[in-house]
Amino acid sequence: MPRPLCATIHIDSMQHNLDRARTCAPHSKIWAVVKANAYGHGLEHALRGFATADGLALIETDNALRLRQMGWIKPILLLEGIFDVSDVPLLAEHNINSTVHCIEQIRMLEYTQLYRPIDVHLKMNTGMNRLGFQPDEYAAAYKRLRAIPGIRNITHMTHFANADELEHPRLAIAEQVRRFRQGADGLAGERSLSNSGGVLHQAELVGELSNDWVRPGIMLYGGTPGGRTALEYGLRPTMTLRSEVIGIQEILEGDTVGYGSRFEASAPMKVGVVACGYADGYPRHAPHGTPVIVDGVRTALVGRVSMDMMTVDLTAIPNARVGSKVTLWGDGLPIDEVAQAAGTIGYELMCALAQRVRVCEGRLGTNG
Ligand SMILES: *Cc1c(COP(=O)(O)O)cnc(C)c1O
Repeated sequence: MPRPLCATIHIDSMQHNLDRARTCAPHSKIWAVVKANAYGHGLEHALRGFATADGLALIETDNALRLRQMGWIKPILLLEGIFDVSDVPLLAEHNINSTVHCIEQIRMLEYTQLYRPIDVHLKMNTGMNRLGFQPDEYAAAYKRLRAIPGIRNITHMTHFANADELEHPRLAIAEQVRRFRQGADGLAGERSLSNSGGVLHQAELVGELSNDWVRPGIMLYGGTPGGRTALEYGLRPTMTLRSEVIGIQEILEGDTVGYGSRFEASAPMKVGVVACGYADGYPRHAPHGTPVIVDGVRTALVGRVSMDMMTVDLTAIPNARVGSKVTLWGDGLPIDEVAQAAGTIGYELMCALAQRVRVCEGRLGTNG
């Protein structure tokens, strides 16, 4: 028998969440963002869950090639562009769109003869201050790129820093949109602005600005970038992490549990040992009280998470036994809630799912 820990991927929920993105941004084409192994879900699952997306966006060229090998024929976008001049021929050969965010990347494209035309996303830094040209350098970068013979379509792109913060962000979306317009107005080409936060608040945030392409990530995986809950946004969980109780201890008042003896029982209690630890991607910093579901009953983590196991309070679940079903996050327990208890975000939990965890497929609402 394999270890009971398993991550179930809900392809039907991925399709549903993509439809939600379409409803939020009905006039935009969608790059489904599949970086970080599709936020931990696996590229194979992403290909099926997001089959109706207009394109897939990720970071590495080798994964872009894998998508082609797996049969994806629609557009692919490299969100950070190329890392070396030797990557340029791959763009033409495999019809991959590249982001262009710095002068070095323009030089790489100038240097290499493109034997087939390619499309690019030119990135503007409108305040995120990670990648991109400043608004006042942008038109010059555009002109230089336009002059390269093998470059076909140039899409204008920027990234929002606070698309999730609706009230009093330090850098308002409206300000980033203003800078974007200042830099790109009058230049021919499509526009690509919103991440999940921007998509979920498309109407409020981006207003009438044409947003030909949107780039949702986390919302497609049933997580939120902040703001409201997934349920309120109409999103469904796409990954349910389940395991089982593999041991039970009846302990007395004053007994302690786990490494560092950090948890001390204030009364006699029943503790369940669950097959899931930080080597599986469960956050080691999750404090006691972090929610867990055992046999359909909501309870809490106690003691420190160890490498392969964690301990949970079974006092209120007298029928719990070795073999009881445990849900760590997903169906019935929003990943954002677990993340918040652990002082992180749903993104990090999904992406951290370890290689050793078995992955299977199943519909939401069924038990596997
Ligand atoms: C990761 C990423 C996205 C998706 O962001 P979410 O918050 O997950 O929706 C969009 N655009 C770019 C450039 C990204 O790197």
